[in-house]
Formats: sequence, structure tokens, C-alpha cells
Amino acid sequence: MTAQISTPVYDIAVVGAGPAGMTAALLLAKTGYRTVLVAPGANLDDGRTTALLQSSAQIYEGIGLWEAISAHTAPLRRMRMIDGTGRLIRAPEVTFDSAELELDAFGYNILNKDLNKVLDEAVSAEPALERIAAFAGSYDFAEDQVTIALEDGQAITAKLCVAADGRRSPAREAAGIDVKSWSYPQTAIVLNLEHDQPHQDTSNEFHTPTGPFTLVPLPGNKSSLVCVVKPDDAEPLLAMAEEALALELERRAHSILGKMKLASKPQSFPLSGLTANALVGPRLALIGEAAHVFPPIGAQGLNLGLRDVASLVGIVGSQVHKKTGFETASAKDPGTAVVLKAYEKDRWQDINSRTAAVDALNRSLLTDFLPVQVVRSAGLYLANRIGPLRRYLMREGIAPQSKRPGLPLPVPGALPKPRLPTLPKLPRLSPRQR
Ligand SMILES: Cc1cc2nc3c(=O)[nH]c(=O)nc-3n(C[C@H](O)[C@H](O)[C@H](O)COP(=O)(O)OP(=O)(O)OC[C@H]3O[C@@H](n4cnc5c(N)ncnc54)[C@H](O)[C@@H]3O)c2cc1C
Repeated sequence: MTAQISTPVYDIAVVGAGPAGMTAALLLAKTGYRTVLVAPGANLDDGRTTALLQSSAQIYEGIGLWEAISAHTAPLRRMRMIDGTGRLIRAPEVTFDSAELELDAFGYNILNKDLNKVLDEAVSAEPALERIAAFAGSYDFAEDQVTIALEDGQAITAKLCVAADGRRSPAREAAGIDVKSWSYPQTAIVLNLEHDQPHQDTSNEFHTPTGPFTLVPLPGNKSSLVCVVKPDDAEPLLAMAEEALALELERRAHSILGKMKLASKPQSFPLSGLTANALVGPRLALIGEAAHVFPPIGAQGLNLGLRDVASLVGIVGSQVHKKTGFETASAKDPGTAVVLKAYEKDRWQDINSRTAAVDALNRSLLTDFLPVQVVRSAGLYLANRIGPLRRYLMREGIAPQSKRPGLPLPVPGALPKPRLPTLPKLPRLSPRQR
């Protein structure tokens, strides 16, 4: 007679060890539900960076990780937008300053590999969280539970599966949730640079006819670059020798940070967007890029994903159960239709408005349609002149007013506010430089 192997039973199974999945697993484990993270190791080689906006910093402060994370970050205190389109109608240069909102910084830029390392170590050190280092293979969604067959031959069951398995999300596909997806005629070249001049905690975003060229501060005299170009123009840039590429990027940056040197290998990402048609299915919630993907403009992608996490944790967690008056019975089952619908309702507006805003901003740069250029320029002109409008835009850029994280999170400790020097004026560009 063969021994019966029992299937481990969990309240919540989080699938995927990207930053959204690891953060969700850590927070959900702390709510008291029996939680497991199903994923092979975190990506400790990701050379991209993420500007963690205030709302994301608050999440990590709330779980005691901010000190470890912030040791690897550079504050983003000013955002300067420069019209480099060279078009007839050009927007004025606009600088947003976090001091105007009485914030230490808009956000904090970190290499993804450093963020993933801190989160990975926190996952290993969290006694309330189990981890199974395997890929999820297939899913059987039933009314009262989901059974997940793992690629190592094991199986587990859970009352709720949180899919944090990225843009291709096998869990989303297994649940039969369709997506709306689209692509842009653009490729992002991403790399990190060392430079002669200090960045003064300022991100510089040149709006060019093919998309943004954005330099975001990293610790020291370093910045991360997202350079959006036409796909055909990406290949020759990627084929350049390091010194030639550094010189070309310095030219495109109008030498505002002085001489440049490559600090990482360039990577390229074709730009695309995706929105899942539903954020939940029976016993399933989608978070992060499993639910939404958009171009790397305005540091929104992961920040939006972390707001998914905060919302889901708030709704399944006991604190919010009390606040919203869920019955005790539903608090014991984190995957009921009531809980999942509440999550979906809470997230739609934020996801749709962010996706639409990033899409519109990106397309407004690409278009040659004069009225759109006028509206874009007028918007930036007004933002430059009208303080309340500028402050509204800055607040909304960090996180919509209505969607600050729903967790009882402390605001990051008051950091000393440095006095920032005045930014040097850019030299007037000759047509050849543009
Ligand atoms: C060039 C670029 C720059 C960006 N800059 C910013 C920025 O400044 N700010 C910002 O907020 N966002 C930014 N983003 C977006 C951000 O990088 C993404 O939103 C974020 O990485 C998505 O995290 P995630 O955890 O949802 O998914 P991922 O990081 O894709 O993680 C998914 C994980 O799931 C795992 N997985 C997949 N299938 C399975 C399975 N079957 N079983 C188990 N595990 C599985 C994968 O191995 C992976 O580890 C940028 C994106 C790009 C392309």
C-alpha cells in the first residue's frame, strides 16, 4: 500500500517573486493568514531602476524595511521637464519641487537588483511566511479553494491565489481572464551612467519627438537613463562601442551633467501596454504587471503595483475588515467573492486613470498633430504659472489623493531638508543639437 501524501493547505498563495509579489507576501503573512510565496529566486541581476514614490516608501516604512532600502536610494527632490521636440509649438521648461508640497522628496530611486535583494532577505527572515522555490505549473480554480500544481511535482491548495507572476501571468491565463494589449512604435534603452557634474537630486526629463530621455538620480555622481527612441534607431545605439555611446548620450543630455561614462550594460525594452479585463477570478487576485503594464514614463509602473498590494492587504487584512464592517467569518476566508470584488472595485479607477494618463502623455510626444501639441504646451505653461495647479499635478503624480495606501502606515521620518542650489539654465539649443 502506498502512503497518502497530503496536500499542504494555505490561506493565501502568492505566486511570483518580483517586487510586487515579495512585498505582497511579506504584508499578507503579517495579517495572520497562513501565507506561502511560490517562486524561484528573486532577480538579483536586474539593472533597471525604480523611483519609489512616497506612497511606496510608506509601505516599506510600515513593515520596517525602509532603512535597509533607503540605504541604496537617491532622493528625487526636483523634476525638470524640458521640451526637446524642436517643434513649432514648444512647452516652457517646468521644474516641480518637492519642497512645495513640504515633502523631503517625490521619491527615491533604487536599482531593482538592490530592492529585490532587500525584499528577498526579508522574505527569508520572515517566520510567518513559507516559501516554496518552484514555478507554479497549473491551476485548478474551484468554488472554495485553488489547487496549484508545482513544476517540482508537488501540489498545494489555498483559499486565495495572488498572481504576481508578471506581464505574461500564467495564473491569469489559467483563470481565462482576457487582456487588452497594445504596443508603441518605441523602444526604451535603459542603462546607468556616471557623470562629472552632480545631479543635485534632480531628475531631468527631455521630451523628444520619439519619447522621453530621462536621467534619474542614483547615489553619488550617477544617474539611471531611460532613453525612448524609434525601434529602428535602437539597434545602432546598442551596437555602439561604450565610449561612443557615452558621448552620444552626453550630447543628447546637452551635457547638463558633464562628461558621461557607462556604469552598466545597455538593455532595451520594446514599449507596450496591457490591462487585464478583470482583476479577479474565482479564488484569484491579480497584482502588479499581471494586472497592468505601461511604458516607463513618470515612474508609475511598480508604484501602481504596490498600491495594488496595499489595497489587497487592507481588504483581506483584519484592520480593514473591522473598518468596512465585513463579518468575522469572511475575515477567516481571504478569497471570498465579496473580498475579491471589494479589491477590484477599489483598484479600477486608479489603474485606468494611470494607464490613460501615461498613454496620453506618451502619445502627445509622438504626435505631429498641432492641436495636441498646443494642449500639451499650454498644460505645462499653466502648470509653470499657477501654483495650486502645479501642486495638484505633483500630488497626483505621486499617487491619486483618493488612493493613498489603505494601511495604517507611518509617514517616513522627517528627513533634514537640504537647501538645493538654483539649477543652471540650459544653453539655447541649436537645431543641430536637438
Ligand atoms: C525600462 C523600464 C523602466 C521602469 N522604471 C520604473 C520606475 O521608475 N518606477 C516604477 O514604478 N516602475 C518602473 N517600471 C515598471 C516596473 O519595472 C514593473 O512594474 C515591475 O518590475 C513589475 O513588478 P512585478 O513584481 O509585478 O512583476 P515582475 O518583476 O515581472 O515579476 C514577476 C515574477 O513572477 C515570476 N513568475 C512568472 N511565472 C511564474 C510561475 N509560473 N511561478 C512562479 N513564479 C513565476 C517571474 O520569474 C518574476 O520573478 C519600469 C519598467 C521598465 C521596462
